[in-house]
Amino acid sequence: MKKKFLSIALAVCVCFVFAGCGEMSMVEAHSKNVNNYDISATLDYEAKTLSAVETVTYINKTDLTLSEIKFHLYPNAFRSDATVYKAVNATQSSKAYPNGFSEGRIDITNTKLADTTVEYEVGGTDKNILIVPIDNGLRPNCAIDVTIEFDVLIPNCNHRFGYGENTLNLGNWYPIACVFEEEDWVTDGYSPNGDPFYSDISNYTVQISYPEQLTVASTGNWVTTNSEGGVSTSIYQASAVRDFALVLSEKFSLATTSLDNITVNYYYYDDDNYESNLQTCVDALRTFNEMIGQYPYTVLNVVKTNFMQGGMEYPNLVYISDSVTVDSEYKNVIIHEIAHQWWYGVVGNNECEYAWLDEGLTEYVTALFYDENDGYELTTRQVLANALNSYLLFCDVYREVYGDLSTNMNRNIHDFDTETEYVYLTYVKGVLMFDSIADLVGPSNIKKCLQRYYDDNAMTNATPSDLIKSFESASHKNLSSYIMSWLDGSVVLEELTR
Ligand SMILES: [Zn+2]
Repeated sequence: MKKKFLSIALAVCVCFVFAGCGEMSMVEAHSKNVNNYDISATLDYEAKTLSAVETVTYINKTDLTLSEIKFHLYPNAFRSDATVYKAVNATQSSKAYPNGFSEGRIDITNTKLADTTVEYEVGGTDKNILIVPIDNGLRPNCAIDVTIEFDVLIPNCNHRFGYGENTLNLGNWYPIACVFEEEDWVTDGYSPNGDPFYSDISNYTVQISYPEQLTVASTGNWVTTNSEGGVSTSIYQASAVRDFALVLSEKFSLATTSLDNITVNYYYYDDDNYESNLQTCVDALRTFNEMIGQYPYTVLNVVKTNFMQGGMEYPNLVYISDSVTVDSEYKNVIIHEIAHQWWYGVVGNNECEYAWLDEGLTEYVTALFYDENDGYELTTRQVLANALNSYLLFCDVYREVYGDLSTNMNRNIHDFDTETEYVYLTYVKGVLMFDSIADLVGPSNIKKCLQRYYDDNAMTNATPSDLIKSFESASHKNLSSYIMSWLDGSVVLEELTR
């Protein structure tokens, strides 16, 4: 990366000295000195387009002078000329695109630094990175306003970003700053495997205009809605979150309750079990509050939607796929996605580099949920036994078909050959690894490990070393080489269990 040490005309320097958290809540404390997104978007519902303007107040928290700021442009994975499978694997393409391929994309139309228009560049795989140069450089601890004007085409696609028969999903729909790590921007492109995302905790104010017959579920807290001439304009505000998603639908009904001053909303359609599904949302929230640490936000939205897979997590908002028709599976997806509010939402990680970290922990606490809650006709042991059996079967079948299998979990999502390999080595081997660590440290200590990891890394992006550090300090055991041998594939589960 280029470094410049010139004077700064446009940037404003800010002080990072933390005055101590005192009585501040976790959200309050971590909403200070973070990037701020102010987005105003208008939805053309007929054309399925958005026109938007976003101002990001970006703070340089590195010790380098930055000569540019990079942003992910995830909707460009859905372009007709995209090379990365048009955002989905071939095996899922008919589920994702039930009416045939439909293009999605984001077009940048203007960028400004403060009030001055600047030349931008769009590059990367499938035009997935926006580069905004800062000619005078952005010094450490300084902030700059980057304004981006953009148009979005929403595909007819049952994906995080796309519309289906019942809903319109706006996940990963706007330019979001890449994470700056060590000496460079992390610019991993889209992958049809996993959740190829990585971002920093930020604050958001989002205004969206849309036809008044639509109901909006969104990240953050609703502030206000004005309606005029058939168009509603709503404003939402979210502090200390790492992304901002919305789902809109004409069909939504809303079931609401609360737990510990947290409003729990279930947006649904075609659901005779909505009361018991809302209860599952509450059960999950209560269980993980007690097991891991308090959910720090005041709202949790669980949204039934058109989605080709089971579900998807965003801060304060999770998708639950309407294609999951078996009640116990639907509830399992609710529990898994809500668990992501702790692992991904509050404690983040690079989901391309260490997908096992949030998915493994999420699967593990989802398994623990069942012993804490009667009425789900499933025990933790049963979930873990199923995971082990299916993992062993996967190893046998994979070796038979492909001849060889690497069981290395510490791989970038782009380095898995198939989605099956990704799922088994991330989710399934992940849950088995955490269960094996629990055997080593004991059942009450494993919960202390989870709590310590949550407390130590809340509102940051954690790495495997952070996990090992927290687990070792909570359990008073040296776990490093044990965990590393699981990750690098030198623990051979087949040999341990046969
Ligand atoms: Zn997950």
